[in-house]
Amino acid sequence: MLDIIAPALPDPDAAVLIAARPFLRQSADRGLLLEDVELAAIADQVGTPCWVYGAGTMRARLRRLRAALDATGLPVRLHYAVKANSHLAILRLFATEGAGADVVSGGELARARAAGIPGADIVFSGVGKSVAELQQAMAADIAQVNVESAEELDMLSALAASAGQRVRVALRVNPDVDAGTHAKITTGLANNKFGIAYADAAALYARAARLPGIDPVGVAVHIGSQISAMAPFRAAYARIATLVRDLRGAGQSVTAVDCGGGLGIAYRSETEASPDQFAAVLHETLGALDVRLAIEPGRWLVGPAGVLLSSVILTKQTAARRFVVIDAAMNDLLRPSMYDAWHGILPVNGASPTGLADVVGPVCETGDTFARDRALPDLPPGARVAILDAGAYGAVMSSCYNTRLPAAEVLVDSGTWSVIRARPRLDSLWADEAVPAHLAGRQDA
Ligand SMILES: *Cc1c(COP(=O)(O)O)cnc(C)c1O
Repeated sequence: MLDIIAPALPDPDAAVLIAARPFLRQSADRGLLLEDVELAAIADQVGTPCWVYGAGTMRARLRRLRAALDATGLPVRLHYAVKANSHLAILRLFATEGAGADVVSGGELARARAAGIPGADIVFSGVGKSVAELQQAMAADIAQVNVESAEELDMLSALAASAGQRVRVALRVNPDVDAGTHAKITTGLANNKFGIAYADAAALYARAARLPGIDPVGVAVHIGSQISAMAPFRAAYARIATLVRDLRGAGQSVTAVDCGGGLGIAYRSETEASPDQFAAVLHETLGALDVRLAIEPGRWLVGPAGVLLSSVILTKQTAARRFVVIDAAMNDLLRPSMYDAWHGILPVNGASPTGLADVVGPVCETGDTFARDRALPDLPPGARVAILDAGAYGAVMSSCYNTRLPAAEVLVDSGTWSVIRARPRLDSLWADEAVPAHLAGRQDA
């Protein structure tokens, strides 16, 4: 995405990338370290490709955000957006730090519960929750369902009434604000599929208050992802504040505002969203409303804390270009091919660049490209590289395309590390496939 927005930006070099990430260090004799653990040692023992996450970094980022929110004096609940990285160990880590969860499917709800997060700390967002998922949310007695349409409100009301239950609901409002981010991750424009049109929200809130089984507690908003400037947040929250005042003016009770996620990180040379500035925007726009606030950050908490470790298969020189073919591919980390995303790539041994190369995976798609014209050292077969900022929307978006195994996952914590997801057996990839009997017996020459 940044290639499109700012074509003139030069690539930061390895020293700059490392300096901006305090949990990374290049050691002359031990190579690249993540939270003081040698990435080469992990690659040797676990194999590649392999995700490596720094628990200390995730914890520190959560605490930094928490401290910025607390400094405003406002009550703000933190619901980690599970979809950014849904590993149980990470959910546990955040739950231990007092965070709740924002889920967008029944699967994520079950995961959050399996990680020990109480229903009371879970909110459920998403434009298409099925009957089964809404029932699951009712059974878990979650904090609130963020309802995205009149149709969903009616569905939920009918389910709640027939079960003799009341469900706390926030209406997710689409503020029609341009988050200035990539089109595929913008969610707050009127023509996006998300939320209830701003103009319809007050009438629907009033209807919700009359429906059986529904307890409207407030409004929710989420304008998109990878947003670093404060202006879009300020504009959206100001509109929400106006809506809350209008609702109260019409006699409605509004006790909660869920401000969504979207805080951006620095993949290349962008500025990372500042927790202090974000907290100040919350205070400025919503601070006088006397409501319980919530936020749903995902990427900001986990993105920078993870790398994808990979080994070079070979370097292929054509007349036109040099291609470094690595053993990670778009099926592991989809972001470059899906969003044109830029990720830093560091040689684990710290060697200095000798020229420009494209870094590609082995999958049979031209889109299986991690980087173009990247300054890199000579990388012989077996050399390791670390693809940076892969902690969010990495493993969770991976697939088994080309019958490639899911990469292993490793968590570094307090100077030690452990495998938190082993690479499965290859035949597990087809274990649930069935060949119909009329094909099973056939032996073609
Ligand atoms: C994706 C999503 C988030 C998290 O977004 P990030 O950019 O990762 O912070 C939060 N809330 C909702 C409703 C989402 O869909």
